Amino acid sequence: MPGYLVNFGVTTALDRLEAIEQIKLFVIENDLPKTDMGIFGIRCPYCGKSDRIRKLEPPDALTGRLNARDMLVYATLWHQLDPLDVSCLGVCRFCQNPLELFMNEGHAKTLDESVNR
Ligand SMILES: [Zn+2]
Repeated sequence: MPGYLVNFGVTTALDRLEAIEQIKLFVIENDLPKTDMGIFGIRCPYCGKSDRIRKLEPPDALTGRLNARDMLVYATLWHQLDPLDVSCLGVCRFCQNPLELFMNEGHAKTLDESVNR
């Protein structure tokens, strides 16, 4: 497992881009999400597939399924990427890219689209 560089505190644009790379690796290595529930009709902005998007569990839904160190890494990355009240984090299981999902509107954004929000 690579050493994760976890920063607490102020989130800068660089930290966010690092967090995107790190959550991508983390999701692959830990085989997330643990609940493999298909979401249909949301298109991946990277590869265009519309049947491979999965919603990632928020960290507190994985208590007991990850070890304490991984929980801390995941919670830190999640908070750094900071999904909005109306969105959640997801992943495309085809191209493995992490995404921000807007379930009500039925679309997904790349996480780096929101770097400057
Ligand atoms: Zn994709």
